[in-house]
Amino acid sequence: MITRKPSIALAAGLLASMLLPGTAQAASPAAAPASASASPVRATALTRSPLYTSGRLPVTRCTEPSVTPGSVASARRYVVPLFNCLSRSWATQLKKARIPFSKPSLQFISKPQRVCGAKWPGHAQGLYCPNYRRIVVLLDKNITQQAEELFLMDVIAHEYGHHVQNVSGIERAFSRLPSRNKSEYNEQLRRLELQAECLSGAFIGSVWDSLDRPTDDWEFLLDATRESGDEHSKVRDHGKGRTIANWLRRGFQAAGPAGCNTWIGSSAMVASTPAN
Ligand SMILES: [Zn+2]
Repeated sequence: MITRKPSIALAAGLLASMLLPGTAQAASPAAAPASASASPVRATALTRSPLYTSGRLPVTRCTEPSVTPGSVASARRYVVPLFNCLSRSWATQLKKARIPFSKPSLQFISKPQRVCGAKWPGHAQGLYCPNYRRIVVLLDKNITQQAEELFLMDVIAHEYGHHVQNVSGIERAFSRLPSRNKSEYNEQLRRLELQAECLSGAFIGSVWDSLDRPTDDWEFLLDATRESGDEHSKVRDHGKGRTIANWLRRGFQAAGPAGCNTWIGSSAMVASTPAN
């Protein structure tokens, strides 16, 4: 039984974003030729990336340092070793997929500020800047007060997922997808975001046995994720909470990117709120 509850502010803040190059947050749909059909997605860089056949992530030991709730310094000391675990795992995985890899840089901020030359997206707990190859984590009290939960791990692993998408050409192929209207564009954006979340689950699944945590902790992350999502946002770009949790769980169960091909999933599998 789960009696813990994430704060509503945290549930909303669990959304972690990618800074879309050149367009900041309010990206408009790319112009599409009248005959183009972008749904379902056909770009093979997205639908048939060698990432999906690269097997399970290496099973590695990744030990979580203890962390003091409410302390930014402690949260930093917690995240850095996880970031190093992520770098080791994904370096090995991308080598298997024959995709050139270099690790991203990592920046912490304790309150929203301009990063990578752009305004901080209001709802985000983390951000990835493709042009800078940089992960930025916002260590505000929403997340540091629940630093013992898996939220921080999910945020850093999700942003690392965006880095994997960047080095593997998925982000670039996404940015070139035609879309006929805002609704179709948002669906494509959700496929990108849900894939990053699935890659986060894949990493957590690959190191789970070394984390020394009860299953309840994982279930709590899934529950909190179900309470997050587009329900808390004006933008239909991440999917409803239940959609996000489904992809997080798929990644965890596969413990590798094989379960993370969001580009061939049905529209229902990448659904936002009913208004879409
Ligand atoms: Zn994201």
